[in-house]
Amino acid sequence: MKIIPYSLLAVFLGFAVIARAEVKITIDHLDKEHATAGFKFPHVPAPRRGDAAAKAVFTLLDGQRDGGGGDLDKLHDGTLPNIDDEPAANFFFQAGTEGGRILVDLGSVIDIREVNTYSWHSGVRAPQVWRLYASDGKAPGFSAQPKRPADPATLGWRLVASVDTRPKEGPLGGQYGVSISDPGAARYLLFDVARTIDVGSFGQTFFSEIDVLDRAAPEVVETPPVQLTESVDIDGGASRFTVDTTETPDLTDWSHRELIPALQKWYPLIVKMLPSNGFTAPKTFSITFTDRCKGVAATMGNRIEGSPGWYREQLKGEAIGSLVHELVHVAQQYGHARQPGATHPPGWLVEGIPDYIRWYLYEPQSKGCEISPKRAATARYDASYRVSANFLNFVIGKYDKELIRELNAAMREGRYDAELWKKRTGHTVEELADEWKKALEAGPPP
Ligand SMILES: [Zn+2]
Repeated sequence: MKIIPYSLLAVFLGFAVIARAEVKITIDHLDKEHATAGFKFPHVPAPRRGDAAAKAVFTLLDGQRDGGGGDLDKLHDGTLPNIDDEPAANFFFQAGTEGGRILVDLGSVIDIREVNTYSWHSGVRAPQVWRLYASDGKAPGFSAQPKRPADPATLGWRLVASVDTRPKEGPLGGQYGVSISDPGAARYLLFDVARTIDVGSFGQTFFSEIDVLDRAAPEVVETPPVQLTESVDIDGGASRFTVDTTETPDLTDWSHRELIPALQKWYPLIVKMLPSNGFTAPKTFSITFTDRCKGVAATMGNRIEGSPGWYREQLKGEAIGSLVHELVHVAQQYGHARQPGATHPPGWLVEGIPDYIRWYLYEPQSKGCEISPKRAATARYDASYRVSANFLNFVIGKYDKELIRELNAAMREGRYDAELWKKRTGHTVEELADEWKKALEAGPPP
């Protein structure tokens, strides 16, 4: 597409020269198999931090943000999704709507070298369909907020590019990079975003990043963040783990002094508590403090992720205990060796056992699972986490010192059923629960 930058028109009229800036549109597509977290395309440059968009103000002019995704900041914070379906790391419009308009105010008129956009999804939310308008804000009749259905071209804006990255054939999923070279000088950019498919509700592009490169800005050499990963041996190398504080350098010292010694001691203890025939617990695991993790912490196989904000607040409180809980998940591995016909481990026990080990064995002094006589009436043995841990502690104390080992082995081997309680204690789980509640109502012995 060829355009004449509006601001230069007057000059052109004065000279008998027709100078035209040439807008070039480059589109790259990596299929699902080749897309990686680095967004490395053959032609479109990789996303960068600290570009002109990083400081710009992004405003939603039309359309609604989908609450399942990130906010507009995700478009210019320099962070990228790690996988092809990470809604919170992308901005996208509300499902089932007609997209919308995003206004970018760069703060002052700059000579833009490139506008680059990036998206990633496993399916129909990957490709990009949008128009880019630009303005220096000086044209007569300029509207700073050209909402739909107004045509921005009639309100002091010029159409820079129409982009549609949908391939003619083949799957839509994967990663897309779009680079608009030489869009001209502008202070304002307007993205008019359309949906990628007309049917169904999932045609909203997962936009991962928008970069705006200022021709006058010095080329920034990207320095990769310093990797802060401590590798730790357990029992002379019998097993190993890493703690990655690259995103949270402020947690490095705490991790080294307090967290690591506790986990070094407790992982082998936990593994020993949870044996079963022919099973070997993971010999390695990793802990990463990362903004990818929403909530408190999560364990995926032998990878644990913790949410930086929560840990910073809990360094003197629940931080280490919560990771002891996650270590139990690493050792549980109930997804392993599933036979056809295996029973599904009940969720309340999958979470109750880690909380039992954490609160009653790792930190009994913090008394984190106490249930007052007043709350006894509404307590449910299968309420999961601490309440179930309290129930387990009751049954263990009164009937069965080996209960955790037996429950764990049965769940891991896919043979858990409620009969196990009767076999181990002579009582059904409901009878045990009634007895437990009576004991709670009576309160602790004086
Ligand atoms: Zn858990």
